[in-house]
Amino acid sequence: MSQDLRAVEGIVFNLQHYCIHDGPGIRTNVFVQGCPLRCIWCANPESQKATPQLMYLADKCTGCGSCMAACPQKAIQRRADHPEKMCTDRTLCTACGACINACRADGRTISGKVMTAGEAFDKVAADKLFYGKDGGLTVTGGEALAHPEFTGALVQLCKAAGISTAVETCGAVAWQVMQPVLQHTDIVLYDIKQMDSALHKQYTGLGNEMILENLEHISNETDCTIIVRCPVIPPCNDSPENFHALGRFLVEKKIRVSEINLLPYHNLGEGKREQLEPGDQGFASRTPTPEEMEGHKNILRSYGFVVK
Ligand code: SF4
Ligand code: SF4
Repeated sequence: MSQDLRAVEGIVFNLQHYCIHDGPGIRTNVFVQGCPLRCIWCANPESQKATPQLMYLADKCTGCGSCMAACPQKAIQRRADHPEKMCTDRTLCTACGACINACRADGRTISGKVMTAGEAFDKVAADKLFYGKDGGLTVTGGEALAHPEFTGALVQLCKAAGISTAVETCGAVAWQVMQPVLQHTDIVLYDIKQMDSALHKQYTGLGNEMILENLEHISNETDCTIIVRCPVIPPCNDSPENFHALGRFLVEKKIRVSEINLLPYHNLGEGKREQLEPGDQGFASRTPTPEEMEGHKNILRSYGFVVK
């Protein structure tokens, strides 16, 4: 049984040790590639597609052209506006890696690689000494449930080894896919980005109906501890009305929320957009002020929630 679980494959774009912001205690974060949403502020745009993605680091590129010659798909061209820099036709690129091997300037890399649940588990279990009574594994992304068999196998392996398991999800995943994973999960970090479905669709590509329904399923049908997480992205979702709507929803639906985390916007994703798509400057928000964050917290506290 556990041998079968160990062999299950997923695509992982990062694995970070000693994390302290994604669930209680010290945790090892496994970042799964792929996400059903397309948030305009995404901090990890390289993780949105469920397959490995080529990244181009223009500031390292010397314009030598070796990658063009190495590409079997003829996917690489010089940029018309900056001939000393390159661009890649994503519809042709198979992420074969030949251009990476040809580049002597470290100007190209790939986000995401196939990993078995067993390989990921071994890295998580190696940190067990540091977890204490609160810490453990957090599967995040991208979207933790973009490769549900992998995530399900990894949480089962960790549970069997006595390691606490947390899964961070955007919630835009069918309940039939989510439920089998969450039955082995201790903590759900549940992202809610915008309570108005039309605005949710405008900023993320999908409405929020399934997301809110799944939160009710989790609350009513699992034993998971629920931590609601809200990125605060001016001006997309930082209105008082949005936080009041969230507070009202959680109270009216009697969601078993252990705490709410508000996550102020940061601009780490901006440089990565350029690496994926030269010329894509993406979306720029601003970091909310401490006073603004305190105001948002106080709205949610007025509904009786612990807010961090
Ligand atoms: S091989 Fe590397 S340095 Fe040369 S053009 Fe391609 S990305 Fe730039
Ligand atoms: S990863 Fe392969 S297919 Fe994609 S641009 Fe590089 S050489 Fe071409």
